[in-house]
Amino acid sequence: MKFLLISLLISIPTFAKVVLIDPGHGGEESGAVGYLDAKKTRRVYEKDLSLRLAKRVKEELSKTTTTYLTRSLDRQVSLQERADLADMVKADLFLSVHFNSSTNPKGHGFEIYYLDNNSNVAASKVERSENLNLKGEELIVNQILVDLVVQQTVSHSRELAAKVHEKIKPVVKGYKVIDRGVKPGLFYVLALSKRPGLLVEAGFISNPGELHTINQEKYLKDLARAIAAGVQAYLDKK
Ligand SMILES: [Zn+2]
Repeated sequence: MKFLLISLLISIPTFAKVVLIDPGHGGEESGAVGYLDAKKTRRVYEKDLSLRLAKRVKEELSKTTTTYLTRSLDRQVSLQERADLADMVKADLFLSVHFNSSTNPKGHGFEIYYLDNNSNVAASKVERSENLNLKGEELIVNQILVDLVVQQTVSHSRELAAKVHEKIKPVVKGYKVIDRGVKPGLFYVLALSKRPGLLVEAGFISNPGELHTINQEKYLKDLARAIAAGVQAYLDKK
């Protein structure tokens, strides 16, 4: 506990701009699974799609800013390891990239989350699938961490989310992906990173129609460009 509090150095962006992009899941942990065909032979894993999008965001953003990935291969990385990397590279911002899933195959849309406490039922479902690596005692300790980090970062993260949202809005509309807006959520990877940041859920893997759209190279590229532009707009203002 003492160690945890000592290590609670919260980093707020200053002059040096370093962005850490975090492709969700990896290795044994596939995240959500979807199928491109009715026979369920053409499978798409969230871990692969999130890596594809994250790499494209890095490509775009690194034109103007120092960027790193928490993983560039298909390998398992714990939430804590992802957060430790933020310290190692002295990241100013942490961007976690995910895709959504629902038991309702009609579930669809694009969401941006920033770290904050909330009591929204729909958000809780997303939180559950993205916070899988943490349990029991760890969760209690992390609740203290969450409160402290929220206090220090929420205004920055909300502003970052608004900038990114502004840029992605026309893109998702062009692909007929519903814009579900910006929401607060309790994502431990954001809390553990101790930085302003956000987590995107860039469409529903579980919706076969939407999966065809979000699996397109062009969608990922256009979206990456918009996310990078939003991040840049935020950094320019700082
Ligand atoms: Zn995920």
